[in-house]
Amino acid sequence: MAEQHIEDVYQKVTHRNPGETEFHQAVREIFDSLVPVFAAHPIYMHENILERMAEPERMVSFRVPWVDDQGHVQVNRGFRVQFNSAAGPYKGGLRFHPTVNASIIKFLGFEQIFKNSLTGQPIGGGKGGSDFDPKGKSNGEIMRFCQSFMNELARHIGPNADVPAGDIGVGSREIGYMFGQYKKIRGGFEAGVLTGKGLEFGGSLGRTEATGYGTVYFMEEMLKENGTSLQGQTVVVSGSGNVSIYAMQKAEELGAQVVACSDSSGYIYDRTGIHIPTVREIKEEQSGRLSEYVARHPDAEYNKNGSDIWCIPCDIALPCATQNEIDETSAKVLVANEVKAVGEGANMPSSLKAIHTFQSNGVLFGPAKAVNAGGVAVSALEMAQNSSRLSWSFEEVDHKLQQIMKTIYENSIRAAETYGRPGDLAAGANIAGFLKVADAMIDQGVI
Ligand code: GLU
Repeated sequence: MAEQHIEDVYQKVTHRNPGETEFHQAVREIFDSLVPVFAAHPIYMHENILERMAEPERMVSFRVPWVDDQGHVQVNRGFRVQFNSAAGPYKGGLRFHPTVNASIIKFLGFEQIFKNSLTGQPIGGGKGGSDFDPKGKSNGEIMRFCQSFMNELARHIGPNADVPAGDIGVGSREIGYMFGQYKKIRGGFEAGVLTGKGLEFGGSLGRTEATGYGTVYFMEEMLKENGTSLQGQTVVVSGSGNVSIYAMQKAEELGAQVVACSDSSGYIYDRTGIHIPTVREIKEEQSGRLSEYVARHPDAEYNKNGSDIWCIPCDIALPCATQNEIDETSAKVLVANEVKAVGEGANMPSSLKAIHTFQSNGVLFGPAKAVNAGGVAVSALEMAQNSSRLSWSFEEVDHKLQQIMKTIYENSIRAAETYGRPGDLAAGANIAGFLKVADAMIDQGVI
């Protein structure tokens, strides 16, 4: 009965959101793992909680006009989905990337509900962004775009309502420009309206590193529980943005050897270990490409086909680039090369079939909602610091992050065990994240 109910709701969701394949994928993945929960607690069925959860509380899309350096008027589309506020103000990043559309924003916003719940922090789920492509844009163009974007977004957000942060294409520079514009519009200093801010105006130490470090803390916990550790392991990390850089750094610090990373044009393979400072330097340059790495490290190889990064033999794979970067074929290659563990630093980087391939071949699999939750968890710590007008030391934030990642692991493994899916962290994370939000919604009436 539970299965039929969940299937019926899934059909309604796909019908109501035609063509939104990424959103359907995220919904399918969560719904499938909730069957044993609904079988054990029919109240969730009677309350029709899933159909409510899969429908955003609110979603806005808006025009973002801006003037480029040539004096031409450009137009982009902005989005904000306010998915669920049962546990706290909507919280989630803003993504600036040409692939952004309603489906991408909704899949990210939907997953954010469960991820944020798992952190144990009082935050709801939301997400936003624009199809604006920051690549090749001047600093002035980025600033004018951010200001125009905030001109509209400002009316929808606030420290107690909705607190955006960064994601792909949005880092501390963009957050700074948006914060400045929000402050001008509101006429007051509301530090807690955005997270990932600069340290001079309410940012938190450790926020920049949090997603990458958290990814590796989770991986270390998962390996430890299975009698091993990162020490001496060969690691492949896709991407070379914020998540990837700090995941590489922490993995190396814990004794692993990171041999490859990538960007949208290709990947580098350095058998002797990636020299992370070089990657950072290249990436900090205006539109620096990873291909430049080989000029400085001639023993390394550069390959133009980015998805082939998963053909490199490794013990541990950390997909930290973007959605669906590991398909079934790549997953099978990783398995054939005897990968031991996969930890998702990006959001939904593995297709449903890829996840199945890992799990059915005994690969330890850490799902994105748990693995990459460190970023938003430290965002919540930034909000706490802003509310109390205090700032904590790096060590304090990092210690709290480690504790949070450990708790997320424990709660996920326990939920999986309780609902008959022992060892299945993907199901466990979904279930643990779901229970808190579902119960909060029921307690608050038909919302
Ligand atoms: N974009 C990040 C995520 O996917 C961080 C969101 C935040 O800090 O609000 O979780």
